[in-house]
Amino acid sequence: MNIALVTGASRGIGRATALQLAARGYCVAVNYHQRADAAAEVVRQIEQAGGRAFSVQADIADEAQVVAMFQYIDSQPGTLTALVNNAGILFQQSTLEELTAERINRVFRTNVTGTFICCREAIKRMAHHHGGNGGAIVNVSSAASRTGAPGEYVDYAASKGAMDTLTRGLSLEVAALGVRVNGVRPGCIYTEMHADGGEAGRVDRLAPAIPMQRGGQAEEIANAIVWLLSEEASYITGSNIDAAGGR
Ligand code: NAD
Repeated sequence: MNIALVTGASRGIGRATALQLAARGYCVAVNYHQRADAAAEVVRQIEQAGGRAFSVQADIADEAQVVAMFQYIDSQPGTLTALVNNAGILFQQSTLEELTAERINRVFRTNVTGTFICCREAIKRMAHHHGGNGGAIVNVSSAASRTGAPGEYVDYAASKGAMDTLTRGLSLEVAALGVRVNGVRPGCIYTEMHADGGEAGRVDRLAPAIPMQRGGQAEEIANAIVWLLSEEASYITGSNIDAAGGR
């Protein structure tokens, strides 16, 4: 059975992606950082629908925890063929003048270094030269990598820019080794992340400025992620899908 690891899958876009991947027949490794109860609920929902899943704890900003997570997945029946680097963080909206090195480093440690380390461990298992059967990786970036998120979180936007460069560079490194690497750049999506930035109603505030005149749903982002992982996207690597209502 093919295993798909989704980081930060206990809520939001990660959760929606885990549910869709399970419906497509993957055994889903539901990674979570702190919310064991929410991750267990995602696993329960998948099993109730007849699918397979297990939860696995790891702070992706911690290299040793990421390595242990992949070793745990190795111990499960099945083969890791898909990775969704979905976990990400942002902090209170502010101008760059207010940013501290500590905050910037925290954002980069999770969004950038964490994604790099997860990619590294996945490649070691998927790539042909390691004896793997191939696979696909999707990095969940953001429209912020294009807009820069001025006055909100330039640190977060820059971390997503780094993810886009990672997607491109890694995709070329492993293109001949059986692994495809792509990105999805969501726009304003209704999830709990905006409350972490201090504005739970952010999507509704910005909706009139979005060409499609509305925010997006987590399922609409999951649709793009799941498609990029699928055989339907078999000739696509190093690409980004902008799922942002035209923004
Ligand atoms: P969310 O806050 O609901 O989900 C993020 C998940 O990542 C949470 O489950 C969180 O616990 C997890 N996470 C954070 N740090 C972690 C760590 N160190 N280790 C493991 N897990 C960790 O928000 P979401 O909107 O579902 O975000 C999912 C992804 O989509 C993020 O990468 C985010 O940057 C991106 N995104 C979201 C939007 C949006 O408007 N919601 C827009 C663009 C991009």
